[in-house]
Amino acid sequence: MPTRASDLLTLTREGLYCPLGDFHVDPTWPVPRALITHGHADHARAGHGRVLATPETLRIMATRYGEAFCAARQEAELGQAIRIGDVTVRFAPAGHVLGSAQIAVEREGMRVVVSGDYKRAHDPTCRPFEVVPCDVFITEATFGLPVFTHPDTRDEVRKLLDSQRLFPERTHIVGAYALGKAQRVMALLREGGWDRPIHLHGAMEKLTELYKREGLALGETPKVVAAERKELAGAIVICPPSSIQDLWSRKFPDPVTCFASGWMRVRARARQKGVELPLVISDHADWPDLCRTIRDTGAGEVWVTHGQEDALVHWCGTQGIRAKPLHLLGYGEDEENTASILEASA
Ligand SMILES: [Zn+2]
Ligand SMILES: [Zn+2]
Repeated sequence: MPTRASDLLTLTREGLYCPLGDFHVDPTWPVPRALITHGHADHARAGHGRVLATPETLRIMATRYGEAFCAARQEAELGQAIRIGDVTVRFAPAGHVLGSAQIAVEREGMRVVVSGDYKRAHDPTCRPFEVVPCDVFITEATFGLPVFTHPDTRDEVRKLLDSQRLFPERTHIVGAYALGKAQRVMALLREGGWDRPIHLHGAMEKLTELYKREGLALGETPKVVAAERKELAGAIVICPPSSIQDLWSRKFPDPVTCFASGWMRVRARARQKGVELPLVISDHADWPDLCRTIRDTGAGEVWVTHGQEDALVHWCGTQGIRAKPLHLLGYGEDEENTASILEASA
């Protein structure tokens, strides 16, 4: 009997499951064997038995959860064919954060690709997305509405640098998610010509050190010392999204609050949250890139994990591509879910 897509991946309470290989992909509950696409907390959880992921993702998990985050770990090199049970799996770059990968699961010419989170836009901190032709493409839809088109990140960073030049006596405080977005903003600032120190909130330190150990040139990134905040006029500071509104940020000289997120495309949301300088910098594909990627894979069928599922499923229909929403719970609590992050701190 030929292999069906549902033999390769199906849904269980824990998330996507491969019956022929007896493993889960990005499970939201502890399982005996997990394949992990990337280090964001909604995809990479502690407490699994065996974990297979890229070396960078394994190091990110160890940094966040401690060395004992799972019972046994195995490194997946990009492009390497790995046999598990009756299937072959292969990791390919997803362009989302350092170490992020799509996972292709195949058997007898049938291939299903779990893309995890991904983007096609410029990011100096990770390998660019690679198109993997497949029969079934599993995608997220965080920004799955035509209104979401992300601008060029270089223009967004230029806005920040222009504002710093215009207000050299004020501190620019940029809210950014601690894994990926923060380091991407640092790297983009360096590309934009900012060669002075980039000051970090303590919560940014561990993962930024990890990025540096992985070979990324992020320059001088001193930690903000509480007592010295008053002296940081004209500085650029990066902190977790929740800190841009709390007491911590008010001790800087006349702070300009900035926020790096795809959601900043919605100006009303930025205004409502008191963000003075919204920076539309996203680690997720925008609507045109979601559509382009689906077309590029040549998939005849698309499963949408989470986000704005309906519009993308509808669009697939107009292209003659079969599509269904998976309504996966537990995803989307990462870098772009700024609504809840900001709400929690409001
Ligand atoms: Zn993510
Ligand atoms: Zn995610």
